Amino acid sequence: MSENTPQNRMDAPRPAEAERPADTMATITRSDATAAAAPNAHHTPRAVDETPTPEDAAVAVAALDRIMADTPTDADIEAVTRQLGRYPRGMVAVGRRCEVCGTPLVTVTRPLVEGRIPFPTTFYLCGTAAVRAASHVEAAGAMAAYTEMVRSDEAVRAAYHRAHRIYLEFRHELARRLGDTEEHIEGISAGGLPVRVKCLHALMAQSLAMGPGVNPIGDLVLERVADEFSPSVCHCDAA
Ligand SMILES: [Zn+2]
Repeated sequence: MSENTPQNRMDAPRPAEAERPADTMATITRSDATAAAAPNAHHTPRAVDETPTPEDAAVAVAALDRIMADTPTDADIEAVTRQLGRYPRGMVAVGRRCEVCGTPLVTVTRPLVEGRIPFPTTFYLCGTAAVRAASHVEAAGAMAAYTEMVRSDEAVRAAYHRAHRIYLEFRHELARRLGDTEEHIEGISAGGLPVRVKCLHALMAQSLAMGPGVNPIGDLVLERVADEFSPSVCHCDAA
């Protein structure tokens, strides 16, 4: 899965930001996360206000209720294992499926895998054609233009910050329901949120799982790759 770029870098803009090696869905260790969360991390001013509005919380909880009703079957786990080339530890739901054949396109992973591995990347793109399409857009160098859009377009920036808050609120409520701690991932979402665009796979995954109108960059990437990947067209044998 060389095209499966890291979706779970700890991207919060903090002094101790740690770059993740490629393909680390299941390999964040406690020591990694502890290193990422510097002793004073909790006192570092956040890039944006992360306090969810009531509307943010309502969007997050509605998505969570819908997604958590889709418990993965053994066949789903087998399919994702084939897609990723490894067992999806901590996978608690299917975030989005191929609308034709039902193959998982996005996994939902609990915040603390196996009771010890902090895992910030709640939504993980697993559909093979979707991963490939996101990689093509990244290879075309689109991230800089998207980041500039977040920086310069006030409406996009506000929507991107909101996507970050909703991401965090979704995971916070998921953690609460599962009894997982978010001690080492507090304030960390994915993909470069809330101020940069670093991993289109992660942003697309949020858009696919939560629906349009939540992550503006994920939505734009989905539009851009529509000829190559769409959840309404089955690409699942294209591996
Ligand atoms: Zn399919």
